[in-house]
Amino acid sequence: MAKKQFKAESKRLLEMMINSIYSQREVFLRELISNASDAIDKIYYKALTDDALSFDQDSYYIKVSADKENRTLTITDTGIGMTKEDLENNLGIIAKSGSLAFKNENELKDGHDIIGQFGVGFYAAFMVADVVTVTSKALGSDEAYKWESQGADGYTIVPQEKASVGTEIMLKIKENTEDESYDEFLEEYRLKAIIKKYSDFIRYPIKMDVTGQ
Ligand code: ADP
Ligand code: MG
Repeated sequence: MAKKQFKAESKRLLEMMINSIYSQREVFLRELISNASDAIDKIYYKALTDDALSFDQDSYYIKVSADKENRTLTITDTGIGMTKEDLENNLGIIAKSGSLAFKNENELKDGHDIIGQFGVGFYAAFMVADVVTVTSKALGSDEAYKWESQGADGYTIVPQEKASVGTEIMLKIKENTEDESYDEFLEEYRLKAIIKKYSDFIRYPIKMDVTGQ
């Protein structure tokens, strides 16, 4: 008899997976900052071998902005960005670690290590957000795209205006429930503490900007 495939409710499975891998919700920020840092590393690597590209340390940074009024938390980087295909391939396949592939291709030079082993890092955002919007413009591309998802039930990709190369990840922070509060992820002191705890070793400046009450 032919072997049958198990059916799975992918949204449920994703919830189970992220909640079992991560014991604390706050680590979503570590994952997003580590991806932003990886993306800047990739521009750095390119600059090492491409004379047309210079790496000016000052123009590379990560920014964390909270907007309490709109309940959004946005992580912006000036890294290598993603093409439409990258958005499709890197954010559309759960548990495929791009960093691992990149690591294997590029025998790590001069201690520039790249974190990320599981390939579920990005999805940690869904522990605290019910909508995730990624706007990205890849290095060398004229076009930018917006990827949006409410979790494992799928995503959309549409063209989007974006002036500079890099990526902006906007999380629509979940509403509080009777048992759970998510407000802390919009508070400057809390965000600072999380960044200090998990991302202190990041080589690029992490800027912060909080608006609203
Ligand atoms: P991993 O970092 O282990 O590859 P993630 O789930 O954290 O797994 O990220 C998946 C992939 O999505 C990354 O490998 C990268 O290709 C892409 N990606 C995520 N965030 C960014 C970003 N800020 N800039 C560019 N690419 C990104
Ligand atoms: Mg990662």
